[in-house]
Amino acid sequence: MSGSKWHEGPIYDWHYDYYMSANAPDGFTLFDSECLADEICSAGPSLVVIFALNQHGYAYYPSQVAPPHPSLGALDYTGSMISALHRRGVKVITYVNYMNIDQRAAHPEWWQRTRNGDEVYEAGWGVPCPNGPIRDYMRAVVAEVAERYPTDGFFFDMYGFNRTGCWCENCREKVVSQVGRPYPMREDWGSETWRRLVDFRYASATETITAIRDAAKAVRPDLVWITHTQPLSPWYRSTNALSPVVDDVVHTEISTRWGKGRWAPGQTAKLLRAYGRGKPRIVCLADLHMYWDKPKGWFYIPYSATQLKLQVASILAHGAWPAPYTEPYPDGRNNPYTVQGIREAFAMARTVEAYLIDSEPVKCVALHASQKTQDFFGRDKPESYRLAFDGAYKALMESHIPFDVITDDQILEGGLGDYALCVLSNSACTSDAVNEALKTHVASGGALLATYKTSLYDEYGRMRRDFGLSETLGVSFVSDYEPAYVRATGPLAVGMTGSPIIQQRHLRVESTEDSEDLGTLIAPSPTDLAPFTYVSAPSRETSWPALVRRGRVIYCSGDVGYTFMRASYPDHVRLIANSVELLIGDRLPLRVKAPSTVDIALASQGERILVHLVNMTTNQVVEDEGCNADTYEVIPLHFLEVRVRADRAPQRVYRATDGTDLPWRYENGWTVVEVPRLDIYEIVVLEPQ
Ligand SMILES: [Zn+2]
Repeated sequence: MSGSKWHEGPIYDWHYDYYMSANAPDGFTLFDSECLADEICSAGPSLVVIFALNQHGYAYYPSQVAPPHPSLGALDYTGSMISALHRRGVKVITYVNYMNIDQRAAHPEWWQRTRNGDEVYEAGWGVPCPNGPIRDYMRAVVAEVAERYPTDGFFFDMYGFNRTGCWCENCREKVVSQVGRPYPMREDWGSETWRRLVDFRYASATETITAIRDAAKAVRPDLVWITHTQPLSPWYRSTNALSPVVDDVVHTEISTRWGKGRWAPGQTAKLLRAYGRGKPRIVCLADLHMYWDKPKGWFYIPYSATQLKLQVASILAHGAWPAPYTEPYPDGRNNPYTVQGIREAFAMARTVEAYLIDSEPVKCVALHASQKTQDFFGRDKPESYRLAFDGAYKALMESHIPFDVITDDQILEGGLGDYALCVLSNSACTSDAVNEALKTHVASGGALLATYKTSLYDEYGRMRRDFGLSETLGVSFVSDYEPAYVRATGPLAVGMTGSPIIQQRHLRVESTEDSEDLGTLIAPSPTDLAPFTYVSAPSRETSWPALVRRGRVIYCSGDVGYTFMRASYPDHVRLIANSVELLIGDRLPLRVKAPSTVDIALASQGERILVHLVNMTTNQVVEDEGCNADTYEVIPLHFLEVRVRADRAPQRVYRATDGTDLPWRYENGWTVVEVPRLDIYEIVVLEPQ
């Protein structure tokens, strides 16, 4: 996480948004670049992202290309902030937004089109087409900013395709000339023409952002380019593959007041490590979307300092740098609460900085993130795959099993070689090449844990006759069968409640002769209770296997991860944890005795071993429609035990935050450390002899 160039880290990035529509009578009225720069720098950032072109398409500087914001007057917001921050020793990246909302009337030719030729505008979200003439306009904007100011880079936001686009003339002509096929007249996932279109969109999104980036780099070759993208985002956005190719830093923003809340920042950091292909990584914490009330829109509420520290801890523990996102008042002042939170979070990060640099995860378990499954299996309902991934993620996290995320590209490059186990949580769409790499992994002593439809489709979502990994998994596909229940037996049933385990999605499979059944499918009650179809009682035990072991491979015919996210039944966690234990329990490098709300990461730094502990035990939260929680209290935990497998005893064990020695002993190949108290974040350091 560090290098000779500033963007290789450490990075403490304040993502200083400044959203403002044209109707802003108090816009910029109290803006003072020197005061603001003092205030921002008091929080200790090393990098600040400053607006140059906003969502509405207004420049925050006297541009000759884009219309200046109507409230800007004689001000040069962008230029004065770059100057003030540079004088204080802070790097500045200029923010440019692709959306250009207020240019809609002047440039109808820019917009994505539905099949009917209408401008795409889904729920207030419409962006120009990457294949349209806006490309040259955006090239001119970034070139102008780079020529006029000593910016250290660009942050390019809101780029990509819309769900109902794009059927514009530019896309049609480009497909005909580049792909040599007529433009598909409808969404037809069974056709080769449509599959080519999906590939085309990925390629054209990458091509256009590269051209825009290069216009900026032609002026300032050393500037750092960042495009806002999201790994595992839906197929239609068509941007999730471009970042490792185009960007100098991979960057994803998350809103953590919804859904996964406390563990989303760490998960995003892990995803970026896999996707980033060795590039520096930033996770941006969106300080907005607290709630959405029509017709007024978003209410921007800053995080509490506690919430911010917790999120930053999760990001650091999993190998990325933090970027709190804030929104000032329209008049240019900050909410003081914002500054306080960022100051405390960056101070905490800087305290442990020496243990973050040049540190790598200790490889043990790899959880597959399948973009192909997201694109094709989850094409209509992104959560259809995403929850399977999230559920496996959450179960591994709560079981304190150290794991990384792995992508198809990494698997194809031999990246599985260092891992004892690969977890495929409904990795439904896999190419033949990925399947071969997984078979090689098993043949060379590696383990697999696979669920549900893993390898049942190819990389374009075309169903195979049988699992591509049928022989390896020890099962053959028979039919869909849902919902159903699983009864685990033997070692997989350890610690379970004894109830049949619900699986909302299930398959009937047959096991091959050389495999061992470790659980059976229990049929649901045949009674039709419609419309209350959720009342699906377990009924009779069938002869269909639900859990199958073949050597170092375990297959579960239910979608455990998906159901766990939907139902959060504790036996789902145990099923995954017991499977990992059975497969590689004798090789796990770390054991932690702590509540499930402690997120762990095991890393090495040279010979030094580091155990990151993030305490996500918080005040009670409400996460419901219209209710979004802030975390304002983390409940301290006491007397945790950390056991690290080691050939020999360390010289010393201590806390990274303050250097305090921790009680430890060495026994039977394990260093056993007592952690008397865990507040928000700690790194246990095992210093080598
Ligand atoms: Zn288009």
